Formats: sequence, C-alpha cells, structure tokens
Amino acid sequence: MSHATDRATGPIGLVAATAAGRAAGDRLAAAWPDHTRRYDGPVGPALRTAFAECRAVVAFLATGATVRVLAPLLGEKTTDPAVVCVDEAGRHAVALLGGHAGGANALAARVAEVLGARAVVTTATDAAGVPGLDTLGMPAGGDLAAVTRAVLDGLPVLLEQDTVDGRFLPLPPLPENVRPGYAFPAGATPAAVLRVTDRTTGAGHPDPAAPRTPDAPEAPDAPPGGGDRPGPALAVPPEAPVAVLRPASLVLGLGASRGVAAEEVLHLVATTLREAGLSPDSVDRLATVDLKADEEGLLAAAEQLGLPLDLHPVEALAAVTVPNPSEVVRGAVGTPSVSEAAALASAGDGAELAVPKRKSAMCTVAVARRRPRGRLALVGLGPGARDLLTPRARAELRRASHLVGLDQYVEQIRDLLRPGTRVLASGLGAEEERARTAVRLAERGHAVALIGSGDAGVYAMASPALQQAGDDIDVVGVPGITAAAAAAAILGAPLGHDHASISLSDLHTPWEVIERRVRAAAEGDFVVTFYNPRSAGRDWQLPAALAILGEHRDPATPVGVVHGATRADERTTVTTLGELDVTIVDMTTVVVVGNTATRVVAGRVVTPRGYRWQE
Ligand code: SAH
Repeated sequence: MSHATDRATGPIGLVAATAAGRAAGDRLAAAWPDHTRRYDGPVGPALRTAFAECRAVVAFLATGATVRVLAPLLGEKTTDPAVVCVDEAGRHAVALLGGHAGGANALAARVAEVLGARAVVTTATDAAGVPGLDTLGMPAGGDLAAVTRAVLDGLPVLLEQDTVDGRFLPLPPLPENVRPGYAFPAGATPAAVLRVTDRTTGAGHPDPAAPRTPDAPEAPDAPPGGGDRPGPALAVPPEAPVAVLRPASLVLGLGASRGVAAEEVLHLVATTLREAGLSPDSVDRLATVDLKADEEGLLAAAEQLGLPLDLHPVEALAAVTVPNPSEVVRGAVGTPSVSEAAALASAGDGAELAVPKRKSAMCTVAVARRRPRGRLALVGLGPGARDLLTPRARAELRRASHLVGLDQYVEQIRDLLRPGTRVLASGLGAEEERARTAVRLAERGHAVALIGSGDAGVYAMASPALQQAGDDIDVVGVPGITAAAAAAAILGAPLGHDHASISLSDLHTPWEVIERRVRAAAEGDFVVTFYNPRSAGRDWQLPAALAILGEHRDPATPVGVVHGATRADERTTVTTLGELDVTIVDMTTVVVVGNTATRVVAGRVVTPRGYRWQE
C-alpha cells in the first residue's frame, strides 16, 4: 500500500481513546509542538487515518487493540510508519511496529523520557544490547539479515576490517564472536563474514583468492589471552553469508568547465568509482573550488547524489600539494589543481589520493581517502554510586570498542559495556603503561575509553595520556564527580570558600614539595582536602600535614573524614583538628580540614561564603 506520507518529515500522530491517554498525548504535544498532530474521534478510524498520514504514530491504546486495527493495513517495514503504544497508566512505551527501520525503538525511548515511562523494545538486536548491522551509522549491504542472525546466535563471524596507513576504519563494538582472522579460534570455520571496507572488490561475493588474514595488529589489539600472531589463512565456506559496512571514508573532488551537464559529472563519477573498485556508499561529500558555486551541472549532480558540496577558495587549493598539477589550470583558475586539491582539502589531515585526477570532456574528478581518526574518551566514573555516573560517561562507555583502566574500576562498570568490548584492565602502579596502551589503540583508529574514578583528570589518567597523545586522534573528556565534591556534599558545605586539594602521596612528588604546598594553603587560610591521605606504608605524612595546618588554625577547626564516599561502605566522621584520630583514615578516604571561619552547624560542616553583606 502507499501512504501520502513524508517519511522523513511527516508528523507524529497522537491517537487516544481515554481521558488519561489524551492527557498523556497533551504532554507529548507540548514537548514537540511542531512535530505532532492529534487524531481525535472514534479510535479505530482515528488510528487508521494517522497510520496513513504520519511518519510515526503514538497510540494510547492496548497493543492488542492497536494490532487488530492496523493488521489489515500493514505494508512494508521500509515504508510503514513506526508505531508506539502507551498503556493507560503511562508506565510503558512499547515499540510495536517499525523498531529499526521505522525508528519506533528510538521513538519509544523519547516518549518514555517525556512521560517518565519505561521504553519496551523487543527487537532482537536492541534487546541483546548488540547493534543491528543496519543501525551502526554506516550504509550496510550484502546479506544483512543472515549475518546479523549469525552474530546474534553466537556463531563464529569473520571480521574483515580494512586499514588505511595501518589504522583501522572505525567500527563500534561487536560481540565476542565477531573476530578478525588472527583472533579466530583454531580450527573454527567462519559461519558468516562481516566486512568493513570502502572497496567493492569481493564485497558480497566472497573471493576465495582474497587474503583472509589481515596483518596481525600490534600487541594492544590482541584479545586477552594472546592470539596476536597471524593464524593460517581461514577457509571461508562459499555459502557463508557476507555483509559489508561502508565507512564514510571517501571524498570526491570535482572540477568542471562552464556549462558542464550534470549527466556528464555523474557518469564520470560512476565510472571512476567503479573502475577503481570503490563503493559510492563510502563517499560522504563532494568538493570543488568556490568559483564553481553557481555551476548548475555540478550543483545538480551533488543534489542527485544527495551529498554536500564543499567550496574551497582558490588560494586554499593552490596551497595543497597534488600529484598532477597543471599550468593550464593555474592560468585559467589560479590554482594548479581543482579536483585533487579540493578532494584532499575536504578529506583533512593525513588524507591520501585514492584515485588521481580523471577527465571527461568538461569535467575532472579525483578521490581522496581520509586517514581514520581514533577517539580517546577520558571518562570519570564518579565516586562510586551508580547514579553519580553521568549519562555522558555511560554513553562513552557504550561507544568504546576498547576499555582501558584499573581493574577495580573496570569491575565497577563492566555490566554497562556492550558485548564484545575489549577490556584491558591492569593493576595499581601501571599508570604509564595504561596511558600508553590507550593512546596507542586510539592511534590505530579505535574508539577507546580510558577510565578513572571521580574525575579522570584529577590525580588520574588524563594527564599521562595527554602527555603522549598527538593531534592525530580525537580526545573527549567526560567530567566526573570528584571524591572531594562527593565528600563535601556528605559533610555539608565545607568548600563554600576558597579551597585546595593536596595529595599526600609522596611516591611521585618529593615530600618537600608537598610540605611547601600544605604550608602555603595553611598561610592562605584555604580549606584543604587531602587525597591519598594515609596507607599502611605511608602513615606519618598526614599527621605532619595536620601539624602544619595547626600552626595557623585553632585546634577546634572542624575536620570531616569521609571513607568510601557514596559507596556501600561509606563512613563519615566529623571531628576537629585537635581531636582527629588518624588511624581511622585509609587510602579510600578524603580528609577535609576547614579554614578559620568553618563551623559545625547542626552536625554539618559549613564554611561561610564570607561576603561583606553577610557580616
Ligand atoms: N580521580 C579521583 C582521585 C583519584 S586519587 C577523583 O577525582 O576523585 C585516589 C584518592 O582519591 C584516594 O586515595 C582517596 O583519597 C580519594 N578517593 C577516591 N574515591 C573516593 C571515595 N569514594 N571516597 C573517599 N575518597 C575517595
């Protein structure tokens, strides 16, 4: 059947049968005023009309009733609208039809957020936490259904991931059973093949002659337990289904004479890609010189291809080094190259020409391939409580294909990782090595999360990692709630005025330096939070530091001691500088010492803001 519907921009229809349903519908309409349309009146006809007119329908109706009304109208999942059902009490938003293709899973999540309901998603891939191969944000082709099934069934799936310059084309985490050849269990036969490539050669038609074992990557890529050596070439059964993911790795540079026809541009583009064995699905933009901003044939070709067209100034193109400069072009345009230079300029640092300039009568084209950029996320996990892990941190953990961290922190969040995430956990003291591993993995093109408790930049891994990281990787910092912030919230308001954090660990910092800072904080009347305050082997530093503060502060100065802030074993003591028993302090503790104005009010530690208007 056909709908008079614009699948991309049509409205979200709201259909309700009861007062409660209409009230919930009002809330959605208020949240998305320009995107919703009400369908009132008898519910059967209303639902049928909404289904015909909308890109998505939210029915405040039982799933059974909805299915009975819509069953006779169902067409193709690629064209039918998404349908989400919300129950009378507004507790559940059920993705009923069009989970992936129609966007019902995503809509159920959005509806749930507005209504405070729970999204119910039953699509196999989403429910298992495994991405559907068609939802990885890359065009996908080949036998998607069969390969997805093999992935979900836990069968051995061969991952063939192209590299550019030794860097892997990007990929989200995939389940354990999807592995590159070098990591395949000995003797196992691939039940399916998943290829990540911008090349068409062999795609969808496994070529028995094609190499099956990509070069073994360096050590950090090896799965835990070894397997970093190339294995023998794998025999892939000819009947094994193959799916292909197309990363957005290519940029087309175009040049044209005045009056070129769109057909000529499209023809040259198509033959160039075909003859070079490159997939049009991996091209994500076009580029040319700004003088061609009004060249109708180019604009029409870009529109037909559905790709954005970058316009580069002549001077910018003249500055790009290209293999095939032309003096004739320089004379006419002012730059010795348009297509090659524009492609390279749009493809960014480190890009290479995959296809040098090719010509037809009035048009030139060149193809640049981007250098893959890895991503290093520095993720603070917060002080311990799960609900103090930020949604952004959670999203980065789920996005990572590789996780690097101290083993105890890894255990704190292991259940949040997507199946197949490579975990590289190590013990205390291996900071440098962890930082190096994380940066190396990102340099190889992977999405890496490097985790730390509290904030990853506070006495933690961000510094050693960024001391080594170059500008060839993307770095994303996700702030976390520090131990000091968590402890302060438990104690009251001890950090209400100027404060300093001081680590008492003299493993990497000479004691003289620590002592000088404690003295300065004492003289400056800063509230002081001591990190790493005391361990079995380091027991004299805390008393020494407190003695220095005591030279400038009254013995009655409030001190808060918080062990395991926000964790199950949280223990808080409010005492004074004169009476603190340091034996209650260990390494999972912070000690907060007030300034000369800090008071205990109703059992809570409070440092006044100290503004004059308060006096
Ligand atoms: N990046 C962390 C600090 C790591 S240094 C942050 O931003 O908080 C390790 C020290 O932090 C420990 O010795 C202890 O002093 C402190 N710490 C970490 N978590 C804590 C918690 N939940 N409760 C109390 N102190 C904690």
